[in-house]
Amino acid sequence: MDKQLAHNHKRVWQTVKKSIKTEIPSHAFNTWITPIKPVALNVDELILEVPNQFFYEWLNAHYKETIKRKAFDGKGEPLNVKYTVSTEPKKYINQVNEEKDEPRFKQKPTTFINKNQRFENFIEGPNNQFARAAAVSVAKTPGESQYNPLIIYGGVGLGKTHLLHAIGNRTIVNGKRKKVVLETSERFTQEFINSIQKNTNGEFTKKYRSTDLLLIDDIQFLKGKEQTQEQFFHTFNELHQLNKQIVLSADTYPGDMVGLQERLVSRFQSGLSVDIQPPDFETRVAILLEKAQQSGLELQYDLIELIATHIKTNIRVLESIIIRLLANSSLHGKEINRKLVEEVIREKLGKEMILELSLEDVVKKVSETTNVPLKLIVGPSRRRELVKTRHLAMYLCRELTNNTLTSIGLFFGGRDHTTVIHACGQVEKVYKKKTAVTKFINQISRNLSVANF
Ligand code: ADP
Ligand code: MG
Repeated sequence: MDKQLAHNHKRVWQTVKKSIKTEIPSHAFNTWITPIKPVALNVDELILEVPNQFFYEWLNAHYKETIKRKAFDGKGEPLNVKYTVSTEPKKYINQVNEEKDEPRFKQKPTTFINKNQRFENFIEGPNNQFARAAAVSVAKTPGESQYNPLIIYGGVGLGKTHLLHAIGNRTIVNGKRKKVVLETSERFTQEFINSIQKNTNGEFTKKYRSTDLLLIDDIQFLKGKEQTQEQFFHTFNELHQLNKQIVLSADTYPGDMVGLQERLVSRFQSGLSVDIQPPDFETRVAILLEKAQQSGLELQYDLIELIATHIKTNIRVLESIIIRLLANSSLHGKEINRKLVEEVIREKLGKEMILELSLEDVVKKVSETTNVPLKLIVGPSRRRELVKTRHLAMYLCRELTNNTLTSIGLFFGGRDHTTVIHACGQVEKVYKKKTAVTKFINQISRNLSVANF
């Protein structure tokens, strides 16, 4: 080989790389271009070395054209680009670095399943019944049920991760030989990228493709990550073909997810998607009773109700209130009474609590306190006493909820927003005079929201 040319391959590749860098995102550049090594330049041919076969296939599908378009020699002549796969099992220098930098890298791929999140301590309610039943069924006969994949979706803190761990735990107990992998989609992505950079795709593939049950949490994080989605797609197909069970969780219905490849979504839809809704009042009470009992906290029933009334959506927050109360009683020796519970709720929710009240909550409370049926309060009657109560209810709705005047008007039998403004004006006139009405308003506000006072 011409000595001059041999020396040039590095410089040529430097220029080509520089030019590619302006065209593709930096994370893609670091993952797919940086590891490429120029090995030779033969007249009109640039030879590049890639770490492994898998890397080559990926490059071929995604970046080959870009590289070709950019490949010119020092005189501006286009170059043919050829690839060779590294024959060295691992670069000696890299290996040393790896061991120094990441001593755990050589360990067997592991997965973490939380022993405390089991079906036995998952409280069932109408909000999660279906999801729980599907999860139990999958754990019983992974891969053999028709629910493959099973996708559990819903909002934050509603028990999706808990169910995934419960499936993992149950499967391990039932079939000791079953291989279970449970990871978040973020971790999946991270491990995938690491495997490419460190040329350990074999380990990655082994971990994810030789499992009997693969559980991936929060797949919404795959959104927009094209390469990881592609890898996930292959993993998915391989497991699915072998009748291995796949369970995924997501924050929305997979069909509504923007940024996921069409073919992935259609694979997801070939199984069963079940949602978890926010728990209703009774389920919240049951969860609180269970959590209090689990942690040995004695909590009067009316205090449990007080918490369940205020915290409506997130079970994680319910739990954190129990923990906070426990800390207060055991560490600070405080008595757990209504005042302390109110304090903890207020601290957790702050202003949010006001937003959580619905128009119905407020009008119901007014109805209970005044003994005027809700129907009459929002109805058409213009009887004097009734109009007064209606005005009060409208005023409280404006003060305590996050609804617009138009929505409030609509709730009160389709009245106009100017009617609401008028009503609030009437109440404010009296409110400032510290009358019985003032007392009434304060009392109701306090009952409805401990955050207010
Ligand atoms: P998500 O993954 O949906 O955001 P998690 O599964 O992490 O929610 O649940 C939040 C917390 O609430 C966890 O500690 C979990 O154990 C608990 N939890 C959720 N749902 C239930 C339930 N139905 N019964 C008991 N605990 C629950
Ligand atoms: Mg979760």
